[in-house]
Amino acid sequence: MISVDQDKYRAATGSEIEFLRGIIRMMPAGVSVQDEFGNILLVNDAAARMAGPSPQAPMRGLSQRREACEEALRTGQVVVTEEVVKRNGAQQVLLTSHSAVRLSGRKFVISASTDITEQKDFEDQLFRSAYFDSLTGLPSRRVIEHHAHSIIARAGPRDRFALAFLDIDNFKHINDYYGHSIGDGLLVELSKRLGRDLRDSDMLSRISGDEFLLLLSPIESAQDVDEFMKSTLSQLTAPFFIDGSEIFASTSVGISLYPDDGRAFEVLCQNADLAMYRVKNEGKGATAFFDATMEREAVARMKIEQALRLAILERRFCCAFQPKVDIRTHKVKGIEALVRLRDDEGVIQAPGSFINLASELGLIDELTHLVLAEIVKSIDLINDVFGAASTISINVAARQASNTTFMASFVRALEETGFPRRFMIEVTEDAFVAKGHFQCEILPMLRRLGVGISIDDFGTGFSSLSALADITADEIKIDRSFITNIHLRPRSQGILRAIESLSESLGMTVIAEGIETYEELAYLQATSKIRYAQGYYFSQPIFLEQLKSVSPVTSSARVELASRIREQSRHPHLLGRGPQR
Ligand code: C2E
Ligand code: MG
Ligand code: MG
Repeated sequence: MISVDQDKYRAATGSEIEFLRGIIRMMPAGVSVQDEFGNILLVNDAAARMAGPSPQAPMRGLSQRREACEEALRTGQVVVTEEVVKRNGAQQVLLTSHSAVRLSGRKFVISASTDITEQKDFEDQLFRSAYFDSLTGLPSRRVIEHHAHSIIARAGPRDRFALAFLDIDNFKHINDYYGHSIGDGLLVELSKRLGRDLRDSDMLSRISGDEFLLLLSPIESAQDVDEFMKSTLSQLTAPFFIDGSEIFASTSVGISLYPDDGRAFEVLCQNADLAMYRVKNEGKGATAFFDATMEREAVARMKIEQALRLAILERRFCCAFQPKVDIRTHKVKGIEALVRLRDDEGVIQAPGSFINLASELGLIDELTHLVLAEIVKSIDLINDVFGAASTISINVAARQASNTTFMASFVRALEETGFPRRFMIEVTEDAFVAKGHFQCEILPMLRRLGVGISIDDFGTGFSSLSALADITADEIKIDRSFITNIHLRPRSQGILRAIESLSESLGMTVIAEGIETYEELAYLQATSKIRYAQGYYFSQPIFLEQLKSVSPVTSSARVELASRIREQSRHPHLLGRGPQR
């Protein structure tokens, strides 16, 4: 212990004092004593350590400490301070309490300090992680929310600002395809480009994975905002170079305006989100301003969403089956299962009204398993009606087809049926966009079981004829849009010939989708080697129960039977006919 200027501390004599000194020296807290004139009388070891090489150091120049001591002397109360001192170049934070004591008619101040540097660092980290995104360094949602609240609180009648909700298109694809570190790199670079032209009064925030909020304040007009956002978006479409990969990204933006679209941050946020949702549905990579129709759409969507969740919970799904027919013999080659939803009023709904939503809500995997379960339950009837050699096709959404976890569970379920070789999986071209992944991981699982692969709706998706050459599929289904009135449309005829010849050289079976008229059929028969087709001309999708009542059937008469039933039915919607596309 270092005692300073002992002469001034005349009371400090005797063995009791020595004893007390020993205790004070060993205390982990830094203890010092000074008289009312600021003269340091005593500094224990811990206080000396905190102070650094010179015991006087923390006392000098620390006006904060001096003031605290004076206050303690004046008021007689304990005064607590947080002192920031520099020691060996590093910053140290001490929590110190000062209390005045009287002894032999004189006043002293005892100060006790604890080093809280580590605790402070930790608090700082917590603070930063609560208020700033660690990846991009951008303020968090709480910060932008607070900022918006304070603008709203101060806003005069003429003040306006814009809140933009930004979402990177297909970010999941980018992450899956290039890996998470490149995905992270893209977020960082993108936020830099987004921030480039902002004013000090604007704020950009990353609120979750690939979602950003941008607050533009103040603004003159919606048109200014529109121009600004368009120029920002065009900067985002230039390629990003990250770890040697060239990445193209686009971003969808929804904008709401204060006060027109809401006077509270939450409302503005929700409305900007609705506008962004509209952009996503209408082709992405653009901006849209909120309008009232979006709200109505959202309410309608919410209703369907609730109904869909309930329908899945109550397993209110069934399958209609549509045959794939040999156009020369009219024999059934196989059938395709097309899911139907029985809504809460008992009306049968075609998948056009719910498949995309189910996919978005993450309900589609369960639905696909339900379809398979229904097939397994009805397999005897399927065999009776369509023949035990007929193939059974199941549609799998592109998103599912590239999801290894789902496909692994689905393949397991197919295997458990005991007849996996009967099945074909129909996927659209979009599933092949990340074709390396599909080819290397998913396809082998299906091949191992002998499950067939069919490319559905060919010609409408993102792939090209050249991409087709890399994909090993068994069957290709030419989309109905090329088949409709093909006898009258030279362009469709040319496309058909190209697809046919490529498929032939790749050994894929071609199926023409959506034949409705005799003329379409006659054209195919006369000019192509295409052998198989599906379409209302042969049979609409049918429910097995409808056939049950008329069995037994001979195999050659099956398709005719199906179409006869169709004609006889007075309730066309029960035939599971989809909406006209
Ligand atoms: P898709 O797989 O291309 O199925 C063919 C669709 O065209 C069916 O519509 C069918 O009823 C309809 N169709 C067949 N022949 C004709 C015709 O001659 N004329 C007309 N106008 N339409 C015809 P549906 O049943 O409404 O299904 C629509 C789409 O929903 C399907 O197209 C498929 O992509 C999807 N889908 C159906 N079931 C499932 C399923 O279980 N899972 C998934 N992920 N998607 C499904
Ligand atoms: Mg299909
Ligand atoms: Mg199709």
